[in-house]
Amino acid sequence: MAQTAEVLVIGGGMVGAAVGLGLVRKGAKVLIVDEDDNALRTARGNFGLVWTQTKGLGLQRYQEWTRESAALYSDFAGLLAEETSLSLGHQQLGGLTICTTEEEISLSETLIEQMKAQAGNLPYEAEMIDRQSIQSLIPGVRFGDSVQAAAYSKHDGHVNPLKLLRAMLKSYQLHGGKYQINSKVTDIKPTSAGNYEIQIADKTTIHAEKVVIACGHGIPALAEKCGMKCPTRPQRGQVLVTERLDQILPLPMGSIRQTDEGSILLGVSHEEVGFNDKNTANVAGNIAARAVRILPDLEQVNIVRAWGALRIMPPDGCPIYDESEKYPGVFMVTNHSGVTLAAVHSMRLPEWILDRRMAIGFEEFSSLRFEKTDYASTPH
Ligand SMILES: Cc1cc2nc3c(=O)[nH]c(=O)nc-3n(C[C@H](O)[C@H](O)[C@H](O)COP(=O)(O)OP(=O)(O)OC[C@H]3O[C@@H](n4cnc5c(N)ncnc54)[C@H](O)[C@@H]3O)c2cc1C
Repeated sequence: MAQTAEVLVIGGGMVGAAVGLGLVRKGAKVLIVDEDDNALRTARGNFGLVWTQTKGLGLQRYQEWTRESAALYSDFAGLLAEETSLSLGHQQLGGLTICTTEEEISLSETLIEQMKAQAGNLPYEAEMIDRQSIQSLIPGVRFGDSVQAAAYSKHDGHVNPLKLLRAMLKSYQLHGGKYQINSKVTDIKPTSAGNYEIQIADKTTIHAEKVVIACGHGIPALAEKCGMKCPTRPQRGQVLVTERLDQILPLPMGSIRQTDEGSILLGVSHEEVGFNDKNTANVAGNIAARAVRILPDLEQVNIVRAWGALRIMPPDGCPIYDESEKYPGVFMVTNHSGVTLAAVHSMRLPEWILDRRMAIGFEEFSSLRFEKTDYASTPH
């Protein structure tokens, strides 16, 4: 006999876990199905920033959405830590985008101006700061001579993304949510009884009243079956990890951050190489060289790990949230900042999925925007 669920969430990564958790907290009976360990899993390869700087350039609603998530994060992570007894390494004391050349300074200044202009009367609270101010925020380290300025936002921070994912899935299960691995969804069809039949690769089926397609790189194929378009592409980012050190970096610096466990993460590249998540010596060399330009003493520190992972990149870099017109009750949720947006995904999206209640301007996140604008050449 087919299994049943009120809401079936497809994908147990950063997005599916956050949405599933929010749904069970609202009392829904939820089943999350996840693929096996061969799946591409961005949730397990990311940098862990909770980041507002420059998010939403071109889509003001996304600027506000990111800020809302950042503002909710302390409560969100605090409750998760309390419920699961897991420490998430969450800190939001501000973040820096370090500039090492005149071009980088000019770009950061321009981006701040554009974000402020776009925000109009709403606040976009980022500013340029000089070397002395950088040093006073991060007093314990020696900066390279090329570090002259940085963009700073007090709203930015970071979290341990693996612990976040673990905590979300644990809390989800504590609230009665069911989680099933080795269950790759291959098809979604309406039934004569008014719900949906979801086909799993092992030929079993699940019946659900509502379906949330939140399976990262697996979304485009399933969305198409439900009459929706998900024009995301893979974009590779490579990350290096140092040995563990005493805590020396109180704030994340965009591409350099120290984890709660002491390792320093160095990142991150932006490579258009299709579904290739390998890491390469030349990109790793560039990442390390830039890190040493910023913090020369890192030259003495060992790199112990490196990986590549694939961002799930929409054409304009902004989230895509849609309900299928062809199959009402089937939703699609994707974005390329699933760590940052975990708080809003968990605390805001369930109202839309369960009751179709949407915040003002929420419809701007629909993929219909790609039919109006040509994003082909937009770099993100
Ligand atoms: C290098 C790098 C750095 C990043 N840094 C940051 C950062 O600092 N801050 C930030 O906010 N974001 C960051 N991100 C982005 C963030 O990791 C993603 O936005 C987030 O992981 C997306 O979550 P997701 O659930 O959509 O996809 P995933 O985390 O990939 O999860 C998708 C899940 O769906 C499952 N699945 C796939 N197909 C199917 C199917 N057919 N049936 C069932 N299950 C299926 C997979 O097994 C997987 O578990 C980074 C990404 C990269 C690559």
